[in-house]
Amino acid sequence: MSLTVSNERFRRRFTTFNEIGATNRDGVNRPSLSSANQEARETLVEWFEEANLDVTVDEMGNLFARRAGANDALNPVLIGSHIDSQYNGGRYDGVIGVLGALEVIETLNADGIQTERPIEVVAWSNEEGVRFQPDMLGSGVFAGEFDLEYAYTREDKEGKTFGEELERIGYKGDEPCEPRDLHCYFELHVEQGPQLSESGLSVGVVGGVYGFVWMNAAFTGSADHAGPTPMHLRHDALVATSDVIESVRRITSTGGDDLVGTVGSIDVHPNSINVIPERVDFTLDFRSYDNDIVDHATEQIQREIEHAANRENVEMEYEEIMRVDAEPFDDECIETVERAADAVGTKYMRIVSGAGHDANYLNEICPTSMIFVPSVDGISHTEDEYTEWADVVRGADVLLHAVLEKAKTDGDEQ
Ligand SMILES: [Zn+2]
Repeated sequence: MSLTVSNERFRRRFTTFNEIGATNRDGVNRPSLSSANQEARETLVEWFEEANLDVTVDEMGNLFARRAGANDALNPVLIGSHIDSQYNGGRYDGVIGVLGALEVIETLNADGIQTERPIEVVAWSNEEGVRFQPDMLGSGVFAGEFDLEYAYTREDKEGKTFGEELERIGYKGDEPCEPRDLHCYFELHVEQGPQLSESGLSVGVVGGVYGFVWMNAAFTGSADHAGPTPMHLRHDALVATSDVIESVRRITSTGGDDLVGTVGSIDVHPNSINVIPERVDFTLDFRSYDNDIVDHATEQIQREIEHAANRENVEMEYEEIMRVDAEPFDDECIETVERAADAVGTKYMRIVSGAGHDANYLNEICPTSMIFVPSVDGISHTEDEYTEWADVVRGADVLLHAVLEKAKTDGDEQ
């Protein structure tokens, strides 16, 4: 039988950890740099120290816990995820990746296994991006995507900055937050989509992440009284917007199998029952694993915005505010995860991630892959998020075996 993590210890930790910031509907409320997030960090650091790990905190409050290798000068294998949550979010998102990584270390400790390479567990700061935008800020600074100063000056809705709040909770560390040499990075995470749940498999081997485009768009017509203004004299910004929303469905139904498109935010002015909408600001989000498909959808929607503006005789604006190309993960790391799944004896499927993860940024500076476990009914970012515990354990076992291969236990070369 292959080496496995301790179901009992892992479960006990998971339960204890999720008492912090627990909501009364089985979720957790531990947004970035909140007091509950601080308490979660303190608990985690305590457990790191109990496992004899060397804990460091970097300038972004990213927590690292290192287990020395037999050849400690070799580049480390990094494993982890995040412990901040959405407001009233789920218990699994991020948490299983960090506690799963700690469980890997506990298993090596308990079995007296010495790896050649050092292994580091990480809990990234501000992954969710609900209190401070953008998301994945801790790993983004670490990977050189954002400046430290930019990160420190991000503000929440009350005008408190990330830098001040990090200091307040006592987690502004000294360690520079910058790219450094890593052998590879693995992240265990819940899928947050329905593919595994629908296929009945416990493990997804993540081959890469979707590319996406974000756009801001707006229509400006004229506000008028909803009573006396006849229909043919109206310039209704919301009618134009609804045409665009409908065309998103049309574009995604013909634009390629994995293309998804969303109008996620709408602001209507003046937003009054008896006034014709004068202005509507809205957002567009298109994603696919194929960059050309995203490009094509973006061109099509721009034409639809123009057509809608002409039909309703309103002014239009649109701008692309963010574009991220689809990014395959490292072939070697993907294959390592597949071999690990075989070693554990679990069936798996290759999967592409539609959501953002810290692994996306890590992929830019070192070989990376991810392990997904099913989200029941694909639900995430709510208190209803649920993953069968047996699947969580299986995911951690796959992580363990991926680490064993990459960190080497038999004195292999780099
Ligand atoms: Zn997450």
